[in-house]
Amino acid sequence: MEECIFCKIINGELPSFKVYEDEKVFAFEDINPISQGHTLIIPKRHVENLWEIPEEDLAAVHFASKKIIRAIKDALNPVGVACLQLNGRGVNQVVMHYHLHLIPRASDEPQLPVSSWELKPGDMKEIQQIAEKIVAAIK
Ligand code: AMP
Ligand code: ZN
Repeated sequence: MEECIFCKIINGELPSFKVYEDEKVFAFEDINPISQGHTLIIPKRHVENLWEIPEEDLAAVHFASKKIIRAIKDALNPVGVACLQLNGRGVNQVVMHYHLHLIPRASDEPQLPVSSWELKPGDMKEIQQIAEKIVAAIK
């Protein structure tokens, strides 16, 4: 993908703060970090989202996430690490190259907006109906 900024980062056409690379995966620091150590893991093969990504690349990204989250724990001693992955502009995916965010939180940092929503019980009938729709669509 010629205009994809993450492809350009993988190719070295754009700079990045690389933390990890292997045959299938590249990981680097987010330059607009929500917290210290905010890291992005991407497949080297360009795909937009979870609908498109081949299983082997998905597996590689998530195997790498385990390696990197361990390094984040050892290096930064966070109280927790949120994993976030957005699919589609409707949920604010901005860079259309699949990426998994690892977002650590230090004890002196504020709660992450992505992990601090209010729990409100839903309508159980509606939840059941939605679950049935999804089950019927599973292939
Ligand atoms: P999103 O698509 O909303 O899941 O997030 C895209 C993320 O990519 C944002 O957190 C950006 O700060 C980050 N980002 C965009 N351009 C760069 C870049 N050149 N280097 C590192 N991170 C970037
Ligand atoms: Zn790309």
